[in-house]
Parts: sequence; structure tokens; C-alpha cells
Amino acid sequence: SLSPRLALVASFVPAQARLADIGSDHAYLPAHLLLTGKISFAVAGEVAAGPLENVQHEIERTHLSETLIGRLGDGFAAIEPADKIDTVTIAGMGGRLIAEILTAGHTPGKQYQRLILQPNIDVDVVRTWLQDNGYALIDETMVFDDNHYYEVLVAEPGVTKFTTRQLKFGPFNLARRPEVWQARWQQEADRIHTIMTQLAAAEKTATPAYHAYQAARDHILEVLA
Ligand code: SAM
Repeated sequence: SLSPRLALVASFVPAQARLADIGSDHAYLPAHLLLTGKISFAVAGEVAAGPLENVQHEIERTHLSETLIGRLGDGFAAIEPADKIDTVTIAGMGGRLIAEILTAGHTPGKQYQRLILQPNIDVDVVRTWLQDNGYALIDETMVFDDNHYYEVLVAEPGVTKFTTRQLKFGPFNLARRPEVWQARWQQEADRIHTIMTQLAAAEKTATPAYHAYQAARDHILEVLA
């Protein structure tokens, strides 16, 4: 079965979607969706030969060669028009890399019905990309898995305009304030506090760095209050 992180990504894939999982590595996500019958066609794209071997191994192990296609390619280059892909997942990478892959693969006017994105860091960069490229955020959520907080963003064609605060903390998170989200930002405030304590011990409270940490922490605590 899938890790809690990948299970959360999978939960947002619509039934009978034609899925492209970009940067699939072991292809656990599309294989699971096919084996459970939620979808009936997927492409697992990989830029690197080693991970593509993992994809091919998983396809053989699960006997999914009719419905799961492993393809070598940089980002969206792994997708062919005949695949009729409507849903794209990109998980387990930094937000900057996800935004780069989306930019390289984006053709203005050609939208996918749904993007499900799981950036490990720099989630604000991904929200910015969606806002700038004709996608609306329709849901977002977070999970604590293997000692990390992971965010999942779900987008569909549409218009969004985020405030600075929404870009960083997430509009749905800010409205719903889930416990896992509060814990994630409390942890970040605590991490910054530790750094500030170390700077104070070194008598460096009058530095720009200290003030920047203080402002960042105050902002988080204000949002959590
Ligand atoms: N998506 C899986 C998951 O979430 O468990 C695997 C994540 S793995 C950490 C990231 C994978 O993305 C690596 O296998 C890497 O080769 C692949 N990758 C990185 N850049 C890529 C790109 N431009 N196009 C396709 N795959 C890429």
C-alpha cells in the first residue's frame, strides 16, 4: 500500500482519469491507482534511466504493461497527444523544480483538467506558478509522514489571485486551520526561535539576520494566533 504522502496525492486523482505521473521513480502511485481500479490508463514519466528502470520493474511486478506506460523524458515530454492525458501528478520534488517542469511543459491555451502537486519545499513558488498560468487552486491539504510535513495542492483551470499571506500559508489552510497545518507552522516558529536563541547567545541580536528571523517568526505566530 502507499505511504500516507502518496495516498493523499492519490486521493485527489479523479476516478477514470488518464494520468501522467511526472518524476514517477518507482511508479507506486500510478500502479496503485490502476491495481485498485480507480483509473485505467497512466504514463509514468522519468528523466533519468535509473528511476525508469524502477518504473519498468514495477510494471513487470504488477503485470500492468497494458495500462501503465513507462517513458523516458524531461517533464511533460514524456506525454504524447495520443495518451489523452487529463490529470497530472508531480510529487516528491522541491517546489522550484515542480514550477520549472510546469513552465517547460505549459502551452498557453492547453490546460489539463487537474494538476495534483506535492512540493516538498517552496510551496509558495508552486502557488505562484498556478496563479500566473491560468490555474485555480481548488483544494490543498497536508500530511505528517515519515517525520516530515508534506503539502498537496490541487488545481484546475481557472483564475486565482492570492494575497502574500495566502501564497505562503495557503488559502484553504488559512480558512480551515487544520491541526496538522498549525503543527507544521508552530514547528517552523520553534525552529526560528532556536536560531534566534543561538544568535542572542553570540550577542548578535543587533544584526539584520536576527531582525529578519524575528519578523518571520512574529508573522507566523500572528497567523497562528
Ligand atoms: N514521485 C515519486 C514520489 O513522490 O515518491 C518519486 C519522487 S523522486 C524523489 C523524484 C523523481 O523525479 C526522481 O526519480 C527524478 O529522476 C525525477 N525527476 C526530476 N526531474 C525530472 C524531470 N524534469 N522530468 C521527469 N522526472 C524528473
